[in-house]
Amino acid sequence: MTALVHLLRQGRRAHLWIDESPAGRLVVRGDRRHAALADQLLARKADVLSVVHLWNGRTPILDWRRARVADDPAPCVLCRRSTLLRDPWDNLPCHKTCAEAAIRWGAVPVISDKRQVA
Ligand SMILES: [Zn+2]
Repeated sequence: MTALVHLLRQGRRAHLWIDESPAGRLVVRGDRRHAALADQLLARKADVLSVVHLWNGRTPILDWRRARVADDPAPCVLCRRSTLLRDPWDNLPCHKTCAEAAIRWGAVPVISDKRQVA
């Protein structure tokens, strides 16, 4: 299974339109050649709905109260710098700021100080 944050980055690059309908349904629209990606996003409906407001810029931050803090640091799946955080969807090492940038902008923040641990 592809990590949620990677699926969302791919969705941003593919120019998919993702939102929640007034009835609470997940809606994914885009070019037919990205149907497999849309299917993967729809298969993770609950997870995608939990971040769709960040995706669309209606909130600036993620709610990571469910995120686990590990005992040992590991390389972030997005920036490769060390982190103790684990994402709340796939339990993968990931900085919250990296996930927010990847979901909102499809990019990862560039930070020059490689000694930082978040
Ligand atoms: Zn990171």
